[in-house]
Amino acid sequence: MVESVGENTRNLKEGDIVMPVYLGECKECPNCKSGRSNLCHRYPINISGLMLDGTSRMSINNNGEHQVLYHHFSCSTWSEYTVIDANYIVKIDPKLLVPLPHASLLCCGFTTGYGATWREVHVQKGSTIAVLGLGAVGLGVVEGARSQGASKIIGVDINGLKQGKGEAFGMTDFINPKDCKKSISDMIKDVTEGLGADYVFECTGVPSLLNEAIEASKVGIGTVVLIGTGNGTNGEINLNPLLCGRTMKGSIYGGIRVHSDLPSLLHRCANKELQLDELLTHQVSFTEINQSFELLKDPHCVKVLIKF
Ligand SMILES: [Zn+2]
Repeated sequence: MVESVGENTRNLKEGDIVMPVYLGECKECPNCKSGRSNLCHRYPINISGLMLDGTSRMSINNNGEHQVLYHHFSCSTWSEYTVIDANYIVKIDPKLLVPLPHASLLCCGFTTGYGATWREVHVQKGSTIAVLGLGAVGLGVVEGARSQGASKIIGVDINGLKQGKGEAFGMTDFINPKDCKKSISDMIKDVTEGLGADYVFECTGVPSLLNEAIEASKVGIGTVVLIGTGNGTNGEINLNPLLCGRTMKGSIYGGIRVHSDLPSLLHRCANKELQLDELLTHQVSFTEINQSFELLKDPHCVKVLIKF
């Protein structure tokens, strides 16, 4: 909820219910005008820890000392109060009656996967899809592919409990690499008549799996979308499978433009076209925030809701 606004803030007022996001959208820079990217030049992903003008607007009184706090990923949401550039805020229309826990899931995670099938690449009706990693991002891919009319949606995860989650969103086939000695790409080919999938979404962030994703996509026309990122950010790419006509594309926030596209996702949520309860497995109070990291290791866990 908005506590107060700055002098020149036009679109927000005290009491508005809003979603903080880590990307902005100016609608005027070359990327925004192109209609082909959500990565705005004027309001980029900001990992500097400072506002766009290079200042911090937050501090804490640390035993009498004024200690600067940093703005993590533009929005710093793990605090009771935060200061955010208004462009990194999306207002929720109160008439929509979107459950707020669901709105929180649209700020990243699920939206990233869902958007990847809709905005980053446009999954065609009847396509075959494979998803590596069935966390909130991967489950968003499953839901997006289902709503785009994919004929086969193959989920891959080493946690067998994700099978039920994937099926709840429309997954048609499940592969647990721990249950089989074959490579992931071979297992995906086994269920796609030996051809591989039209689209493969890599959502784990494990660098070595990118080669499996490329190999699992169809020769000549397959597209691989890289959405995951983790501790390892380097890896070797086998060039020959990529040379054979496949396309690889990276995606931040699923290509979703925060001001142009997010409102329509909120509408889909309000109309119950998107059922997000399956993602909410745990909730903690703000004072228990550190426990949420332990909960993430629970195989039953998809998302932990922090209640402020
Ligand atoms: Zn822009």
